[in-house]
Amino acid sequence: MDTTLKVEDLYKKFGAVEVLKGVSLEARTGDVIAMIGSSGSGKSTLLRCINLLEIPNSGRVYVNGELIKMKQMPDGTAKPEDQKQVERIRSKLAMVFQSFNLWSDRTILENVIEAPVHVLGVPRKDAIEKAEALLAKVGIAEKRNFYPNHLSGGQQQRIALARALAISPKVLLLDEPLSALDAKVRTQLREEIRRIQLELGTTTLFVTHDQEEALSIADRVGVMRGGLLEQIAAPAELYDRPKTAFVAEFVGLTNQIAVSVAGGKFDAFGSELSTLPGSVTSGNGTALIRPELITLKSSASGKATVVATSFLGSICRVMATAADGARITAQMDAQDAAGLTPGAKVSISVDK
Ligand code: ADP
Ligand code: MG
Repeated sequence: MDTTLKVEDLYKKFGAVEVLKGVSLEARTGDVIAMIGSSGSGKSTLLRCINLLEIPNSGRVYVNGELIKMKQMPDGTAKPEDQKQVERIRSKLAMVFQSFNLWSDRTILENVIEAPVHVLGVPRKDAIEKAEALLAKVGIAEKRNFYPNHLSGGQQQRIALARALAISPKVLLLDEPLSALDAKVRTQLREEIRRIQLELGTTTLFVTHDQEEALSIADRVGVMRGGLLEQIAAPAELYDRPKTAFVAEFVGLTNQIAVSVAGGKFDAFGSELSTLPGSVTSGNGTALIRPELITLKSSASGKATVVATSFLGSICRVMATAADGARITAQMDAQDAAGLTPGAKVSISVDK
């Protein structure tokens, strides 16, 4: 499959601070890659370096198979070699920000046709036709003559999306586009972004700090930490086969249990479990066990004690203390957790 976006060994420093420390990734045509990671890990800087809003110190960016040519400077910075190429490549990239960034003194329609008409030189009539189709796609065709301030945050972000798509970008860069919206609008809009993206087949790099958002809409998810891409993989692989404890923690609740490993096996609450490839094979280790793999059952002889429960609709999360004092979190069907009230004695079993 074709590669629409490729980043190789990207470094970016602000003064003495290294913000990107060698990031590489590749997006095939039509992919949605979500980037997650804590605040300050370099997600926005990565997008800004791809879009040349920031110039990386070193590394290579390919858009649509074309390498953006850079000159290394003696002071360790770099500069684009060819301004014409930069303009051409930037016209293939569109970016949407958390803060919408619409022009408040222009109507919705004018916002959407601005770049096609003034940057790409598309005839006004054609640009309007396309803008109308895009506004219909994002569900706000009837607001074309309104000003941005008269619309809700969710509607403004739909327009920002239509505006980004109006240049028919090869690559769509979304920097926490849903973070300023309330929960209900956020879930609705993320499904719609995915639907529209699938329809248009636009290669998309989607930054979010919300792991659920990332896992639900992306083909692959990258986890950034301190300027490095710690792992990039399909959602299920990232969740089931995290390469590091950080990734495991970042993509879902995880129990950390001190265990002793021998021959790639260890005991957790009386169940013998196997470690995943890449783990320590002997000695002391920390087992990371997902809450949904732990079941607690009421038992008079149980050595663990329920501390608290929290109902999440059809499932229930139960916090308990094991015999050795370890804190554990289990997640079960709500009906199986019905009798588990604080203070109840329970036995623990782990799904192998
Ligand atoms: P994220 O989007 O993952 O929260 P950013 O890429 O925005 O992270 O920032 C990464 C680090 O780079 C932060 O420590 C931030 O303070 C720093 N940084 C970002 N932009 C600049 C800048 N223009 N000048 C100096 N430092 C910056
Ligand atoms: Mg950011």
